[in-house]
Amino acid sequence: MKCTIALLPGDGIGPDVVAQGKLVLEAVAGKFGHEFDFSAYLFGGCAIDAKGTPLPPETLEGAKAADAILMGAAGGPKWDSLPGAQRPEKGLLALRAGLGVYANLRPAALLPQLRDACPLKDEVLAASSPEGKPSFDLLIVRELTGGIYFGHRGRSADGNSAFDTETYSVSEIERLLRVAFVAAQGRRKKLCVVDKANVLESSRLWREVAARVAPDYPDVAVDYLYVDNCSMQLIRAPGRFDVIATSNMFGDILSDEASVLTGSIGMLPSASLGDAAGPAGRPRGLYEPIHGSAPDIAGKDIANPLGTILSAAMLLRHSLGLAAEAAAVEAAVDAVLATGLRTADLATAATPPALRAGTRAMGQAVAHALRARS
Ligand code: NAD
Repeated sequence: MKCTIALLPGDGIGPDVVAQGKLVLEAVAGKFGHEFDFSAYLFGGCAIDAKGTPLPPETLEGAKAADAILMGAAGGPKWDSLPGAQRPEKGLLALRAGLGVYANLRPAALLPQLRDACPLKDEVLAASSPEGKPSFDLLIVRELTGGIYFGHRGRSADGNSAFDTETYSVSEIERLLRVAFVAAQGRRKKLCVVDKANVLESSRLWREVAARVAPDYPDVAVDYLYVDNCSMQLIRAPGRFDVIATSNMFGDILSDEASVLTGSIGMLPSASLGDAAGPAGRPRGLYEPIHGSAPDIAGKDIANPLGTILSAAMLLRHSLGLAAEAAAVEAAVDAVLATGLRTADLATAATPPALRAGTRAMGQAVAHALRARS
């Protein structure tokens, strides 16, 4: 297959981890006989510095012209004092909205190799696991182009008060829920809709839409949780969850919480999908780790690149239809972790120096394991 992949490394550790995602995609191309044409674009704070805007027009055009986009992260202290409308995060929101990628899939599972990196006790994990094992495997489907991050916001004239607005339309809720229902059909057929319907009118609309849409998916069992309860249940009983569908802000927060249970925020990938197809007619998607730009460790060859590498696997599966190649990347990650190799965020006091890896060494190990697989 011949296709184009736009790279948006962004700021902080973004360039560190995207370089490793690209390395693994190149290994996939070599092993499976594909031709991936990469183009890199400025995005986030570095684009503000070079072009005066976090999402230059050529970046959005390049992303739209590509079959898929692999992104790092945007933002950092250098740009924190800029007014809201000019900040790197604004570019992120504009990119997601510009691409129309409204459904953000965030899988979070505990790999057996990382059992020690999960802070929960065996008995806590096993009590809620369907198989009674110390593990969990859930998928958060987060709405990505609406809600409070995009709503009307402002300050009063005297500057003494400020407001942000959570607005959702029926169509925005319905299209997100349908993605979540279909995802549940391909998994354990359980969907939990997470909201704050005891307080928020927008959440009550989510429940109404869910109740109307649910009969179209009779094989999926639906339940509802308030977000405060959900945040507790994720720690108490993560195995009770299969698919969680929720709003933009709740999904943002809950997925960071879930990431701690997998061992590190550096492990979690994401795929953002919409209805639009890329130039070759395949579903265009934006793929990125769920972490931010981690300025505290940027450029130090410390960051865990596995969330980005696993995002590249999601890119292969969802946008390019290369399921076997995606599975090969995931198996290579599993194999490398099984050797005991750990980046700093995953290492414990028991990890010997020989098994401590930097960002580049971890990426190279995954690429090597991929090439070595029969
Ligand atoms: P963060 O995710 O960047 O970092 C939180 C903590 O996790 C830090 O201690 C960091 O070192 C660690 N961490 C994150 N990714 C890691 C990795 N791959 N390997 C090892 N450790 C990792 O969140 P933050 O500190 O709240 O935000 C930093 C900047 O990133 C801010 O400017 C924020 O706005 C931005 N941000 C961007 C995105 C995005 O681009 N999608 C998402 C979240 C935050």
